[in-house]
Amino acid sequence: MKARLFMPIVVAIALLLGLPAGAHAADKVKAVASFSILGDMVREVGGDRVEVTTLVGPDGDAHVYEPTPADARNLAASNILFVNGLGFEGWMDRLEKSSGFKGPVVVASKGVSPRTMIEAEGHDHGDEHAKDEGHGHNEHARGEEHEGEEEITDPHAWQSLANGKIYVANIRDGLIAADPDGKAVYEANTAKYLDAIAKEETAVKDTLGKLPKDRRRIITSHDAFGYFGTAYGLEVIAPEGVSTESEASAKDVAKIIRQIKAEKIPAVFIENITDHRLLDRIARETGAKIGGTLYTDALSPPDGPAPTYLGMFRHNIEALSQALSS
Ligand code: ZN
Repeated sequence: MKARLFMPIVVAIALLLGLPAGAHAADKVKAVASFSILGDMVREVGGDRVEVTTLVGPDGDAHVYEPTPADARNLAASNILFVNGLGFEGWMDRLEKSSGFKGPVVVASKGVSPRTMIEAEGHDHGDEHAKDEGHGHNEHARGEEHEGEEEITDPHAWQSLANGKIYVANIRDGLIAADPDGKAVYEANTAKYLDAIAKEETAVKDTLGKLPKDRRRIITSHDAFGYFGTAYGLEVIAPEGVSTESEASAKDVAKIIRQIKAEKIPAVFIENITDHRLLDRIARETGAKIGGTLYTDALSPPDGPAPTYLGMFRHNIEALSQALSS
């Protein structure tokens, strides 16, 4: 009699005690990341505590993305939003408003030195000059802007691993603020990830450092490799500007074709997110070879050649060094 009464009480107590722990496993932080590269970084830092949904998926072009009703529902159900910033996700404000999302927004690029340039309307790159010197200079240049020109901020800061480290620290801080119980986990995941990024950074500099000086010039379709070029000593020329929103003008293309011929630029690269017909044509008309595909603004699908942020660097470096070393 005693035992029969006792057992149900033990079970009840165990259930009561067990319930919070059981619920906790299902109670992950729901994070939304605007694009696949950032989503991978959030996954690395968040580990098992965070469930990440990515809005612009593999091979997707975030510049011209049109959010879906499912995106609004995902965002509404999430606890925290991660964006690149620097004007990359022009569609995000409207999505945030329409979803009713009121949670914290982490701008992953916060703290990087933005690359800005004056871009003439119609993307005539002859008038464009990158200015990495800092804000004082930018301020000055803005005053010199002419009619039909606008100052553009280059959003592709993740293409420098030094900036990638800043992104990761911002992601860590954002997750700790949203989920203080996970602080130790996020810090440990971040330390491990930063170490892997530092190792890749050394490998990138070693590999690209071996390229002959006169071959360190490439063509990509849109200007996504500005931070990369500055960080690793590569000159990058692109018929389209820092966004894919407007197509290159006939004048831009003709100028690039002349430039490739005159400067004997060895290789043009297709991007995973953009149509490659223009580059096919440029390669045909100049005799420059197609050096392969670079992953610029999106990862490949999981079974592809660039499924993670660091995998993307490994793939791009391999493609660049193969095309440019001989
Ligand atoms: Zn881009």
